[in-house]
Amino acid sequence: MDASDSLGRLTEARALRETVHAVLEQASTDAAGIATLINDGLRRSRATPELRHDHGRWWTEIISDTDRCTAHLAAITLSALASVIATLGPACLGVCAGQNCRGTFVDLSRNDSKQFCTRTCAHRASVAAYRRRLSSR
Ligand SMILES: [Zn+2]
Repeated sequence: MDASDSLGRLTEARALRETVHAVLEQASTDAAGIATLINDGLRRSRATPELRHDHGRWWTEIISDTDRCTAHLAAITLSALASVIATLGPACLGVCAGQNCRGTFVDLSRNDSKQFCTRTCAHRASVAAYRRRLSSR
């Protein structure tokens, strides 16, 4: 692999990261848009499902029929996102509301109320809101 191959793969990995982030940002507001993002990404990665069986267990595995590692990464990542959306619905995916945080989450709460990626981000936002209230008095 030469330097231009490495740079190309890095560019592809970054593009996948942005696609995943766009899906998570738009999941609760644009179901058709995220379906297009995921399906286009799966086509580009040349993802193919394969039925597997081992030790009495069956599962499907998404592979890519190319030898590009970024295509495999895209196929696995986007098919996993598609599975989550098909199982739980698009509204369960979200981006953290924390300031300066790019964290994402799958909301498994009963009332779809999750706003932050971690308790740390929720705590930071709570402290910031408390300080704003104090300073506005
Ligand atoms: Zn966060």
